[in-house]
Amino acid sequence: SDRNKSLIEKGNPHSRIKKVIGIVSGKGGVGKSLVTSMLAVIMKRRGFNVGILDADVTGPSIPKAFGIDEKAASSENGGILPVTTKGGIKVMSVNLLLENTTDPVVWRGPIISGVVKQFWNDVEWGDVDYMFVDMPPGTGDVPLTVMQSLPVNGLVVVTSPQDLVSMIVEKAVKMAAMMNKPILGIVENMAYFKCPNCNEKHNIFGESNVASLAGFYNIYETAQIPLDPQLAAKCDKEGIESFDNDYLNLLAAYIEQNA
Ligand code: ADP
Repeated sequence: SDRNKSLIEKGNPHSRIKKVIGIVSGKGGVGKSLVTSMLAVIMKRRGFNVGILDADVTGPSIPKAFGIDEKAASSENGGILPVTTKGGIKVMSVNLLLENTTDPVVWRGPIISGVVKQFWNDVEWGDVDYMFVDMPPGTGDVPLTVMQSLPVNGLVVVTSPQDLVSMIVEKAVKMAAMMNKPILGIVENMAYFKCPNCNEKHNIFGESNVASLAGFYNIYETAQIPLDPQLAAKCDKEGIESFDNDYLNLLAAYIEQNA
């Protein structure tokens, strides 16, 4: 691991990566990949060079969200080339290397963090202003090791209303604090439902307490994403790059100023 550490400190010789933003969650299925993808798209729209490193190795969903159906190729130098989305975002994910994307990844923790380090070191990213890392969910061994293995500048915590109530999200927040990683914002996903007929906001899961949680932990920026069937369709098949909402615009602006 000393060798890996020095590689990380030296940086990847094929890449100039400026800022690394990790997207974390207390548990799976809360929309972490959706938020990673949307933030990347917004930053790309703002004119930056953007990459996505899919570190959610056992549940990779970034390639599908972008409708990528090709595989990663190796470069002349023996490195790996990222796949570029239609909109110009560079992506690396286990699913771009697996022959069969429905095969389960049954690797144990140390192998998984080794793969993530390889994604950092051996992928020829080129110039990247913002690298968004879709972290493994939860607060166990794997997310911990992955978080330690990358030079993360800041984190975005993704949560769902139930998660807020059960305080699972606080574990993620505390883990970030224990590792001295600044939290740039909390995103409450599936926060409400906006009726397409009456245009009214329905708080299906009750009043949100994301603001008080953020206040308690001195986190400046919060954002909410509603349950949105269009968004589900986009991230499950059509391609997330065509979304047209402003749910995360303020958070992206905050990241640009503060990361
Ligand atoms: P995670 O990365 O946390 O496991 P994903 O981002 O993959 O979660 O989201 C899980 C599923 O939930 C996706 O397939 C997506 O269709 C759906 N989903 C997430 N957020 C929303 C939302 N705001 N509205 C509708 N569907 C959503």
